Amino acid sequence: MTCIDGKRIAADIRAELREKSAEFEKKYGKKPGLAVVLVGEDPASQVYVRNKVKGCEEAGIRSFAHYLPASASQKEVEALVSDLAADENVHGILVQLPLPAHLDAERILACIPACKDVDGFSAENIGRLAMHEEGTVACTPLGVMELLRRYQIDPCGKRAVVIGRSNIVGRPMALLLLNADATVTVCHSRTKDLKSICREADILVAAIGKPHFVTADMVKEGAVVIDVGINRVDGKLAGDVDFDAVASKTSYITPVPGGVGPMTIAMLLTNTLACAERAMR
Ligand code: NAD
Repeated sequence: MTCIDGKRIAADIRAELREKSAEFEKKYGKKPGLAVVLVGEDPASQVYVRNKVKGCEEAGIRSFAHYLPASASQKEVEALVSDLAADENVHGILVQLPLPAHLDAERILACIPACKDVDGFSAENIGRLAMHEEGTVACTPLGVMELLRRYQIDPCGKRAVVIGRSNIVGRPMALLLLNADATVTVCHSRTKDLKSICREADILVAAIGKPHFVTADMVKEGAVVIDVGINRVDGKLAGDVDFDAVASKTSYITPVPGGVGPMTIAMLLTNTLACAERAMR
């Protein structure tokens, strides 16, 4: 069994990005730029935004952090995002979710043009992914593919099972695996006989949001198990996979923390550079 080291890979990616960002700056006279918009004072969101800004610094990407009070109006947030959309120094825009309840998140996200949608959440980018065309892909599932690639795990011809069908993880994950020529099954809360489907998986991805949901009897001997879940149990982080019981059955497994988690910001920075490069074409 190999424990996949997402922390190390994410650090490698940041170092690689630093070099690529320096090349970009040499060529175009400016750094790739990422704007992050935070509305309100949610402590978890503040930590996420701080980590994203720090990640930018480490990767040689210019960050533009915008903090609006929780009382900001729909019009104010939309105006800010529209200004960022028109700013040539901003190549990517990220609006930290969740937004305060009085705001219409969908309408705010719609102000981000697809070419600056570094989260890959727009209908255009999801459509491109579904059609296997170039575009921006959601950071967490993209991070999973990058882990597989760097550990030379080729999904081609493999049976892949994704548990979860959310727009930000499960659904794009399934499309990415399909685009990589895996035979993909998507499971969700209405799936019948989940255990026997999971037992067929050569690659099993858990994106459920329930601690220790995937147990040893759901995993085939030698499978690759990717745990996207981030849950809090007694103040500690726990994945969706019962790691201690499952690990010895697997060929590769991601731990929580230190597996998929660190890859999300690394992919956000990767997407920012890709958007910047496309803007210069
Ligand atoms: P979500 O709640 O939007 O989706 C959960 C999915 O799990 C749903 O599609 C649902 O159908 C499925 N599900 C729920 N109960 C099930 C059951 N009993 N059997 C089968 N399927 C079931 O969650 P999400 O946003 O996709 O996130 C999933 C997990 O990944 C969460 O723990 C979240 O914190 C984590 N996450 C991690 C990262 C990261 O950076 N590593 C990023 C995003 C989300």
